[in-house]
Amino acid sequence: MERLQKVMAAAGVASRRASERLIATGHVTVNGHTVTTLGTKVGAHDHVEVDGVPLHHEREVYYLLNKPRGVISSAHDEKGRRTVVDILKDEEVDERVYPVGRLDYDTTGILLLTNDGDLANRLMHPKFEVAKTYVAKVKGLVTNDDLKQLRRGVQIDGRRTKRAKARLKETDRTKKTSIVQLTIHEGHYHQVKRMFEAVGHPVIKLHRETYGPLNLQGLQPGEFRPLKPEEVQQLK
Ligand code: URA
Repeated sequence: MERLQKVMAAAGVASRRASERLIATGHVTVNGHTVTTLGTKVGAHDHVEVDGVPLHHEREVYYLLNKPRGVISSAHDEKGRRTVVDILKDEEVDERVYPVGRLDYDTTGILLLTNDGDLANRLMHPKFEVAKTYVAKVKGLVTNDDLKQLRRGVQIDGRRTKRAKARLKETDRTKKTSIVQLTIHEGHYHQVKRMFEAVGHPVIKLHRETYGPLNLQGLQPGEFRPLKPEEVQQLK
């Protein structure tokens, strides 16, 4: 935790003395509340604005997480459930990171977290078309015809999904389940589950293996690591 005027000065808002004046005269909010007390301390998770303009005092950080089952892909959860950001906070990551896109509560696998809003927005934009590979365990025995449909696109909410790659990895004839690898370039709500639903094979288990050029090599569920500078460049 640092004194507010010191954080403002470090962010290049004004000198420390001038920052004190801005605070005292009501120009500064912390987490939405105007603060006029000079001794106020703030941490990396506090949101500071000067005249409504957010301070960018953080360096940009990028983490790759192997999301375990049973955590929420957001920074906060109204019901108090554990989030992917909590996993990083527990290991002393202080920056205000948030996930780039979402994985469902019960989905495992690769998830990027960053405080770089520009990159996050670009990666999430449909035009950017990041390839994402999932492995799904589904009900029923998936046929070649099902795979063809998944590749060509299926109807979800009156919209056709874009071309995808689909490959049958395994079938269990006794349990009547299949394992399919699916690569998509979109990220609509529950997209993969709904695509399999559309071909009559509800998802039992879902895991994301790759995100663009990144994979999970060396990361156990619940583990994360910072991206290497060259990996960040590859995403840009
Ligand atoms: N598609 C889904 O249905 N769920 C996920 O978690 C990710 C993609």
